[in-house]
Amino acid sequence: MIDSHCHLDPTVFDGDDGVDAVVARAVAAGVSHMFTVGSGYGFESAARALAVARRHPNVRCSVGLHPHDAAEFSPAAFATLLQLASAPEVLALGEMGLDYHYDRSPRDVQRNAFRQQLRAARERRLPVIIHDRESEGETLSILREEGAFTTGVLYHCYTGTVAQMEEIVSEGGYVSIPGIVTFKNSAEMQAVAAAVPVERLLVETDSPFLTPVPHRGKRNEPAYVPFTLKRVAELRGMDAADLECQTDANTRRFFRWE
Ligand SMILES: [Zn+2]
Ligand SMILES: [Zn+2]
Repeated sequence: MIDSHCHLDPTVFDGDDGVDAVVARAVAAGVSHMFTVGSGYGFESAARALAVARRHPNVRCSVGLHPHDAAEFSPAAFATLLQLASAPEVLALGEMGLDYHYDRSPRDVQRNAFRQQLRAARERRLPVIIHDRESEGETLSILREEGAFTTGVLYHCYTGTVAQMEEIVSEGGYVSIPGIVTFKNSAEMQAVAAAVPVERLLVETDSPFLTPVPHRGKRNEPAYVPFTLKRVAELRGMDAADLECQTDANTRRFFRWE
């Protein structure tokens, strides 16, 4: 099983030894592969993600600038990011996008960092991992304007409506479901999880946050992605093993992960 989106950041998981222990627990739980996202814990999290991927052959990574950290965007930071992106362990750019829920960076700054990264991804033919919170369709408009769907678009931790999911899928995009789907009060996400075409569906932990039931309240880690997969399979009336084959294949196809 693959966790398609986690943050195996040593600053979050008690250093390199902590990360190694998290990876070992995942493998013991049947999660053989993990995709760690080098974005979201400051600009420096990109280099840290690449270091983790280099140390673990079953871990691949992305690098990017999260909308929360968009204020850190500068020509020098961007050049560093693109240099990291040329490493063979880096299979995507992101997560990137717009977050109008927290608004941790000014919106025009978020838009600029987002567009610059999309253009770089297109030039390098890398797929992109999208973070979208309450942008009211603006994220999707920018993706269309920048031609991002030609190299691959994955909405991670998808919290939108079924109608918007259908738009994303019709453009060729992928949608990833997090542990929130195991919460009782997640009717909209459960409806999405049941409706995503099976060949466009991924599952993720987004660890260290959003821990699925029955571990809700604890720090999240890739070993818990089977709980999310099992819940999604139930919602779809599918056998969990069949769904796992499909979501693993989707993850590998999307990231062109050999
Ligand atoms: Zn995110
Ligand atoms: Zn994330």
